[in-house]
Amino acid sequence: MKFFIEAIGCQQNGYDASRLAIFLKSAGLFESSAEESDIIFILACSVRQTAVDRIFGRIRNWNAKSPSGKKTSHQIIVTSCLTPDDQKKIIERGVSYWEFGDIESLEKIIGEKFNNRTIEQSSDSVYIPIMIGCNNFCSYCIVPYTRGRERSRPADEVILEASELIKSGKKQIILLGQNVNSYEFGFTKLLKDLDDLPGDFVISFISNHPKDMTADVIEAIVTLSKVKKEIHLPLQSGSDRILKLMNRPYSSKQYLELIENCKSKIENLLVTTDIIVGFPGETEEDFQQTVDICKKVEFSLAYVNKYSPRKGTVAYSLGDPISWVEKQQRWKILNHLVNKKL
Ligand code: SF4
Repeated sequence: MKFFIEAIGCQQNGYDASRLAIFLKSAGLFESSAEESDIIFILACSVRQTAVDRIFGRIRNWNAKSPSGKKTSHQIIVTSCLTPDDQKKIIERGVSYWEFGDIESLEKIIGEKFNNRTIEQSSDSVYIPIMIGCNNFCSYCIVPYTRGRERSRPADEVILEASELIKSGKKQIILLGQNVNSYEFGFTKLLKDLDDLPGDFVISFISNHPKDMTADVIEAIVTLSKVKKEIHLPLQSGSDRILKLMNRPYSSKQYLELIENCKSKIENLLVTTDIIVGFPGETEEDFQQTVDICKKVEFSLAYVNKYSPRKGTVAYSLGDPISWVEKQQRWKILNHLVNKKL
């Protein structure tokens, strides 16, 4: 049996896709192109409407007839981040929805028995999820509705997983969560315990929320030798008015002070960020404030996203008044400024 996996969206999905591929191959299935596969997995992302549209577009394409006119016979399975409404819609299109990691239900969907009961890891650099879900309810984001409230994995489970991965030769451990700073069992304690593990490896983590980037986390980056001297700190906007509409509880001044504090304590610190352009109501002046803060911080990388309204979020009621052309222009300006791309 042949399979194909497409991961849409965040690093978590990329990580899950590589684990799923290893799991399926170890069970005797073969990885192939989408056209030749018996099963197509889509690791869905619901953060933006464009990502959801892409899932439905893929389903349409793969369910379409082949050029020879023969109806294709792929079985399509969608998993990961999908709202209950969208789950219903994909099931209506004859596509299965699978709760990622539930081996028993995967066996029922594809009619295969697996000896392995868990989906393991891959590659030199590995992601270790330490928590899922989010409590922050940024007005543009669907994650708290699709992935639910924050749930943290027990620290001893994370440390055991990391220790086994390091023994098996992994060189970089990337701790993963929507907001790792609010890890329930103490994020800095977890960093310290991981740093104490023997072996030649480094630790990094994503993502942080500026409101939770406390002095003890900064101190841990300074003092723990295996923790990389880099921080991913999503800014989203440099305008206080837009930050408020986004339900991001910090001001541009507080953000700048935080960065200055980090830079003064951590030598050669690399700072990366996420920015949304074209949020409803973002004026030229608001955008200019984002440009100004980018110039001051000198991010080493910015993931710049054009706003797209997501049904089910608070911001959806604000509509999408900024034209695509305007969003594209702002996107280009920031990419050119920060990422030196056109
Ligand atoms: S912090 Fe905001 S943007 Fe990030 S997952 Fe949570 S709600 Fe979404």
